[in-house]
Amino acid sequence: MEKIGNKITYARKNISTLESKRSRKDLMEKRENYFSQLGIILTGKCNIRCRHCMYNCQPDTKMELGWLVIERLIKEASAIENITQIHFTGGEPFLELDTLFKAVNLCKLLGLKVSVVTNGYWAVSVNVAKQILEKLDGLTLLEVSTDSFHQEFVSIDRIRNVILACNELGINKCVRVSFLNDPVSEIENIKKHLSPVEGLYELSQQPVLPIGRAASHINLDLIFSYDPKGVFCRGADFPLIISNGNVSACCGPSVSWLGDHPLLLGNIFKQGLKEISDAADLNPIIHILRLWGPSELVNLVKEQSEKDCCFFTPPMLDEIQNICSLCKFIIANPKYSRLLQRAILNPVVVYELAVRRMIELGEISMILKEV
Ligand code: SF4
Ligand code: SF4
Repeated sequence: MEKIGNKITYARKNISTLESKRSRKDLMEKRENYFSQLGIILTGKCNIRCRHCMYNCQPDTKMELGWLVIERLIKEASAIENITQIHFTGGEPFLELDTLFKAVNLCKLLGLKVSVVTNGYWAVSVNVAKQILEKLDGLTLLEVSTDSFHQEFVSIDRIRNVILACNELGINKCVRVSFLNDPVSEIENIKKHLSPVEGLYELSQQPVLPIGRAASHINLDLIFSYDPKGVFCRGADFPLIISNGNVSACCGPSVSWLGDHPLLLGNIFKQGLKEISDAADLNPIIHILRLWGPSELVNLVKEQSEKDCCFFTPPMLDEIQNICSLCKFIIANPKYSRLLQRAILNPVVVYELAVRRMIELGEISMILKEV
């Protein structure tokens, strides 16, 4: 760790292969508007038990919102101008086929795009996959997860079946790959196995995070780690509703942090979705994460601790593997979280944030409130 002026910086541990090749402007331009997508965990249950699962899903998990709640959420979401897409995730959403069929159909009826993530276990043949997908009338995008962890349970043949079925039905598809500290080999391996369907699918990749089942079932020395300085968070673009009704600012580790914290946006059993989304749109911490990432939270907490003459020790390099562990270091620590809450009372901080949101992301709600 080194100190430059008031800023804290971290020496790079590994080269972040995925982000460093693209310019900030390029990455920002590709961002969708804040809260244009709402994630809903359709079920916490999964038919398999991947070693790297950050939500610890398994066959006997009993966590569901149920159709009536999901129906209400879709209707509320369709009335919120920003939200254009619902993303159903799990667990394994295809275990609750009736609910999934009804949910996707209702989204279509109300003019919402809809994406679903799956491990593809149900695609025993191209024909079976087509029969199931045909009932998902309105499905815009199917994201199918496969990598060395999923393949311990689900053969990549089924992923090929999913891709071919989607192709015949004109459904967009994306293959999601999780990786440890050798992303290149993991991706090459997937591409090799999917070479018969090359060109028919998009690919997205994300590092395994050392949380949930991964924390106890993966050798932590193998986790992909990188310098989080200046890496902004795209995970906070889209909130996620989990099975107890909590609305989390992201689908990442903050979902499992206990107690009240700034990335817990509300609960759908206590508030309407519109109230939650309006508050999140003006929540400075969310948008600092989206624009500058958690290293800026560290800077704000450090400056505030100096103003308040209290003690703050920035994290040591070997405590931090990625932006999420740096985010947790600040947000999930009540003392640092309180310092952060005081720091964002500073109108200069909020004004600069509002201006940057407008310039870089084209989002004007915050600046309209400030002027
Ligand atoms: S990673 Fe996905 S497919 Fe694997 S156990 Fe978790 S929810 Fe199921
Ligand atoms: S950096 Fe924070 S807000 Fe972003 S995905 Fe990680 S835990 Fe969530």
